[in-house]
Amino acid sequence: MPKSSPFISKSKYLTGLQCHKLLWYNYNAKDEIPEVNAGQQAIFDQGHIVGEFAKQLFPGGIEVAKGIIAFDKVIEQSQKLISERKPLFEAAFKYEYAYARVDILNPVGKTKWDIIEVKSSTQVKDINLHDLALQWYTYSGAGLSLNKCYLMHINNQYVRKGEIDPKKLFIQEDVTAQVLEYLSQVEDKLEEMVSVIAKRSYPRIPIGPHCSDPYDCPLTDMCWDFLPKHNPFTLYRFKSETAFSLVKKGVTDVLSFGDEISLNEKQQIQINSIRSKKPHIDKNGIKSFLNELIYPLYYLDFETIGPALPLFDDSRPYEQIPFQFSLHIQQTPDAKPEHISFLAEGMDDPRPELLRLLKKNLGTKGSIVTYNASFEKDKLNKATEVFTEYKKWNKGIQERIVDLLDPFRAFYYYHPSQMGSASIKAVLPAITGKGYEGMEIADGGTASNEYLRVTFGENVTEAERKNVRKQLEDYCELDTIAMARIVWKLGKMA
Ligand code: SF4
Repeated sequence: MPKSSPFISKSKYLTGLQCHKLLWYNYNAKDEIPEVNAGQQAIFDQGHIVGEFAKQLFPGGIEVAKGIIAFDKVIEQSQKLISERKPLFEAAFKYEYAYARVDILNPVGKTKWDIIEVKSSTQVKDINLHDLALQWYTYSGAGLSLNKCYLMHINNQYVRKGEIDPKKLFIQEDVTAQVLEYLSQVEDKLEEMVSVIAKRSYPRIPIGPHCSDPYDCPLTDMCWDFLPKHNPFTLYRFKSETAFSLVKKGVTDVLSFGDEISLNEKQQIQINSIRSKKPHIDKNGIKSFLNELIYPLYYLDFETIGPALPLFDDSRPYEQIPFQFSLHIQQTPDAKPEHISFLAEGMDDPRPELLRLLKKNLGTKGSIVTYNASFEKDKLNKATEVFTEYKKWNKGIQERIVDLLDPFRAFYYYHPSQMGSASIKAVLPAITGKGYEGMEIADGGTASNEYLRVTFGENVTEAERKNVRKQLEDYCELDTIAMARIVWKLGKMA
């Protein structure tokens, strides 16, 4: 092993377990790795918030080398603080080629320590055990006497009542036995990684399920760009193992599929449509869907937030709380839809006002058209379980909800540009020629993150807050007017 090799931190170790090519890039061509996007950054930020919150469970704990990144300085401070016998946050140690910072190091008795890894997930994952195995290897190698290791994760059954109780919010699982099973692999894996890093060029690793497991790889665009547009991964509900094995054999274009590859009816429609360069239209299917619709139509869409630390009473970690709706009401097939919207103001629970306005505006008859209805149905059910005065009303509403996703999931209409997707983002441009381009907020994840940022975040100017709220209004409105346009177009086809 080259003695000049850099340390392998726990995050790099996990990268190396996922893919040696990605590891190589991290050390040799970091500039070529795209920066994390806003969605990924929001996930990291959430993890940080959860980590900070967990520290409340260890009063008297000491922050080690806060804000210091230089390895040697952090290690030096950590070594000094060991003798204090207090919980240590972010202490760091190195051993051989490994370097790791521990979320919480908790003293046990006179000489031992527990390792506590805090995660914002709701269960223990295999990757967490590898993470802890690397930590155990590093800290014990550095001379610490270890007792047990724990994974502290979010309890998604916790319901907030008043201030969040960290004792109930977290579940601390003893994972020592599983981690020790992985421990024997650590040294060999580190040696392998060190030799990969030292190579002149990156290892030739074919694409595979590891490209998105356990994390979406940032090099996906680069590694996957050899695939033609209509490749096996774009086939609707095509098994990914089959797609990978076809690509491995060099079958990368769905138009070159032989008869030995069995396809279902929808996949066959998709391939025929690519071949003919024309949309597939099942008039009878479309008619049967349209016949279900009862005017006036209420096109409804929610945007939601679901932070790890529940913001409101009677809500759980990660529970999706609707903070916004857009509603287009269309009295007759040719009438211009009327628009009504709600975007919660302030930091109070948005559900009561949202339910009040929906009850006021959804009328008593007519279909409520949503896209992927289970989402809106579930949010209404959950909200009315808390605000029970709307329970009876919700029962009537549920029966009126129609799913505009259904005709596309059934392939009554399919356009080759949908690339195997029946989502509204794929269907709208395919069917109307206009999509979400030019929108500053163009997906639900961004809407959620931006709403949280400008409503609960710090250092947001009033001008910025107003601007984001306007973008949120525009985005949610487009989702419901898009549905109205799609139904109108379907009517022309049937
Ligand atoms: S996209 Fe896949 S093969 Fe390429 S570096 Fe990432 S994980 Fe490795």
